[in-house]
Amino acid sequence: MKTIKQTADVVVAGGGTAGHIAAIQAVRAGVSVSLIEASSMLGGTMTDGGVFMPNHWHSPTQPVVQGIGWELFNHSKQIEGLRVKSMKERYGVDTPGYYSNINVPIYASVAEQAAVEAGVEIHYHEFIGEIVQEGNFWIITSYARGIKRITKCREVIDCSGDADVTRALGLTVDKSPKRQPGTLEYRIEGIDMQQVWEGEVQKIYEKAMEEGELEKGDWAYFGIYPFQWYLQMGGHNSTHIYSCDTSDADGQTKANIEGRARMLRMYQFVRTKIPGAERAVLKTMYNRALSREGYRVVGEHIVTESEFMTAQPYEDAVCNAFNYIDMHNEDNGCDEIFHDSMELLPTVPFRSLIPKGSNRITVAGRILSADRTSLAGIRAQCTCMAMGQAVGAAAALAVRRGTYSRDINVEDIIALTKEHGAVEPNRARKKEYA
Ligand SMILES: Cc1cc2nc3c(=O)[nH]c(=O)nc-3n(C[C@H](O)[C@H](O)[C@H](O)COP(=O)(O)OP(=O)(O)OC[C@H]3O[C@@H](n4cnc5c(N)ncnc54)[C@H](O)[C@@H]3O)c2cc1C
Repeated sequence: MKTIKQTADVVVAGGGTAGHIAAIQAVRAGVSVSLIEASSMLGGTMTDGGVFMPNHWHSPTQPVVQGIGWELFNHSKQIEGLRVKSMKERYGVDTPGYYSNINVPIYASVAEQAAVEAGVEIHYHEFIGEIVQEGNFWIITSYARGIKRITKCREVIDCSGDADVTRALGLTVDKSPKRQPGTLEYRIEGIDMQQVWEGEVQKIYEKAMEEGELEKGDWAYFGIYPFQWYLQMGGHNSTHIYSCDTSDADGQTKANIEGRARMLRMYQFVRTKIPGAERAVLKTMYNRALSREGYRVVGEHIVTESEFMTAQPYEDAVCNAFNYIDMHNEDNGCDEIFHDSMELLPTVPFRSLIPKGSNRITVAGRILSADRTSLAGIRAQCTCMAMGQAVGAAAALAVRRGTYSRDINVEDIIALTKEHGAVEPNRARKKEYA
């Protein structure tokens, strides 16, 4: 194994939803950035994992997240030859916000190109194993096939989705014994929906469940939507893996195997039992099963459900977090809790991106410091990207000023992210939450 020693101002752990934006923001602010990503592309859950639906660039009333994520989204749409509709051109929807899909191969390539052009040093197929402190530096050891890399850096940003760096440092994290189910994303194509009658396919599905041909979770939302919905989606984002825990390789392997077994069972059922699906083809399967929640960092502030639902105004808000609470479960599939008004705009305080009692480490994405109910709203992709941009800015400013990211003034973080297109976070409203 080759040992490579190098230095970087900032190391970003994980180039997923939050991490690729953090890296681009930091490097654009003039510091050197090494991005270590365990898989083979940027974007994480939104690309490699096949959840290609970033929520929410805007609410029905205002833009809520823009910045580097929005820039990449627009660039990828331009390559597809699609015009992105402005907020005012889109139709109102019952649920808050608007869904926008990305094209996975294009977005992942556009994001990679932007990172490389900006000067991010990307290391794919590599994972962070150890981290120790040496004076004012971190010494990070990462492993890849044939490579042991030792990187000396000033700031580290944990965007691993499972708090790998925070845990390796022995900082406090939390993991609920009861967690949301995970999912393996795939898509069945070629179902002739004109042949599908909702009542009939519902009965066929229920009989298959009774007879044990299918298992609970193969169709995740049995308690809230008819089975026809699964067919319309071609199974995409429609199954649950109840004991999914991707925080280590054994858990990831187990979830992959269960996810694929569920996928194959459903495909065989659909093709042989559903009228109109005789020629259905299992066309797409994404690389790995995904967790909706795992480890959460215990930070300098823990965002609570009540704060999220009342859009608690934080003095140190660094980005907006517009979304409803989307709590997946085993009982009926999913519980959704909406804000009283679509005018309410929750935010993310900087303190929830700083592990408690730490220096020179920040976090972003679904590992932020929040209770599990509020996390079920904050974890939306646009919010993850906006958090990534904020901590990328904080790390860069800290290196430039020879100080710690935690000591960077929030106004300076906001000013820097705004230079890169970000929306100013809401710091205005408060409402009682029963
Ligand atoms: C099934 C599912 C459906 C969802 N649906 C939606 C939706 O419709 N809309 C929406 O907005 N949000 C949705 N979400 C939520 C959202 O996708 C996630 O919360 C968000 O993508 C998490 O971003 P992240 O950056 O925290 O993690 P990720 O995007 O998962 O990125 C983490 C990255 O870190 C890498 N990594 C992990 N450990 C290491 C290590 N030790 N060293 C190096 N790299 C490492 C991983 O390979 C990965 O690329 C969904 C989530 C799931 C699981």
